[in-house]
Amino acid sequence: MTEQIHARLLPIFNQVIQRNAGEGEFHQAVKEVLVSLGRVVSKHPEYAEQGLIERLCEPERQIIFRVPWIDDEGKVHINRGFRVQFNSALGPYKGGLRFHPSVNVGIIKFLGFEQTFKNALTGMPIGGGKGGSDFNPRGRSDHEIMRFCQSFMMELHRHIGEYIDVPAGDIGVAGREIGYMFGQFKRLTNRYEAGVITGKGMLYGGSRARTEATGYGTVYFVERMLATRKLTLEGQRAVVSGSGNVAIYTIKKLTELGARVIACSDSNGHVVDEDGIDLALLQEIKEQRRERISHYAKARGGHVKYIEGGSIWQGPCTIAIPAATQNELHEQDAKELVKNGLIAVGEGANMPSTPEAIHVFQEAGILFAPAKAANAGGVATSALEMQQNASRDSWTFAETDARLATIMRGIHDLCFETAEEYGVPGDYLNGANIAGFIRVAEAMKALGVI
Ligand code: NDP
Repeated sequence: MTEQIHARLLPIFNQVIQRNAGEGEFHQAVKEVLVSLGRVVSKHPEYAEQGLIERLCEPERQIIFRVPWIDDEGKVHINRGFRVQFNSALGPYKGGLRFHPSVNVGIIKFLGFEQTFKNALTGMPIGGGKGGSDFNPRGRSDHEIMRFCQSFMMELHRHIGEYIDVPAGDIGVAGREIGYMFGQFKRLTNRYEAGVITGKGMLYGGSRARTEATGYGTVYFVERMLATRKLTLEGQRAVVSGSGNVAIYTIKKLTELGARVIACSDSNGHVVDEDGIDLALLQEIKEQRRERISHYAKARGGHVKYIEGGSIWQGPCTIAIPAATQNELHEQDAKELVKNGLIAVGEGANMPSTPEAIHVFQEAGILFAPAKAANAGGVATSALEMQQNASRDSWTFAETDARLATIMRGIHDLCFETAEEYGVPGDYLNGANIAGFIRVAEAMKALGVI
């Protein structure tokens, strides 16, 4: 039996469901946090006063807009754009933009809600937000991507600013798209306001290590978690789902620290390479040629298997890093992983494990690093990019990476200690939810009912 929502918080959840009908991912994210908060309100009932938790579940602002653009054949397309400004108690709204056909307001709200606690865990002065569009970038030419990004920014620019709301990348949005959006923002506002968006290129205000940060940070978290059981990454057998930004730099850091990553994927299938994923080849295929993961198997030769469809989680591994998308790792996958010798899970993607899968991991005593803690290195390094922009400075890779590692250690230790304090030692899920909540809640209390 998974844990239930505390009776005091149940009406809040019922209202969230009623008010946000059909937004399954948002309900799932809120439920997970409310279950954890049962422990907090039992100990500190004052946090349930002044509608504080109700306010936390309601975004401060939700913007939905039309994004018209013209393809290379002259055909007009209409997409929908979103920006959900969730909570600004700790600083300007901060969170990525996702371009994927599955995007809808419920997905953006779940991501914005999660982002609020994640950003709080970093200890940096950033609130939570998220945005994106149901635009599908796959197969689109460079010119089409540029026209879409410009049209998207045509509306978004009214709502963002370095002291207001600072977007970044997410699925389908990386350096190229950030460049086009920043260019259009600059043209529309006639301001070189570098701190308005993060994930920029190095020539126009980017930060070293931002591209690597989410993947590296996830691995730093897992490494520290393993250390609590006197284990290291050396010799571990790892599986990483996805082959985008987070997956690639997770694979890179895992390999550097002595693990062997034997599988990765995209939405069509996965490859199994028992010699360890060839990172240079993977990067060439995904980052330069923008091809499918099946091409990796073709290019690497006979010993590499490509499996179309199916689950990447069926083979033996000791470390599992889901780094593709939400709800990609199911109960059956979790059971299979546990049976096959799993030691630790680090969530690189946002909410990649279903609640049932998490339950299986926890029952089996697997080290489980939840997304809002494990993948917070990306946004933390975005905040470092904002710091560099504000001081017109540019730090070395080594300095930025060292700060990232320190931040990740801090997040790990905060979650670990909070879990102990609330009577659930080793439970990073509860530790992250409670520690993130307390930071946001304290700031909200101080700012009054707004
Ligand atoms: P990318 O677009 O670079 O890569 C996404 C990868 O996941 C691709 O391999 C993609 O395959 C796969 N994928 C996407 N959607 C699906 C799906 N519905 N089913 C199966 N596979 C899918 O995105 P990122 O690497 O930036 O993001 C990955 C995850 O990490 C997301 O959950 C994101 O929210 C999270 N994250 C990202 C951060 C960042 O800094 N970029 C920061 C924190 C979290 P395909 O090419 O076939 O679509």
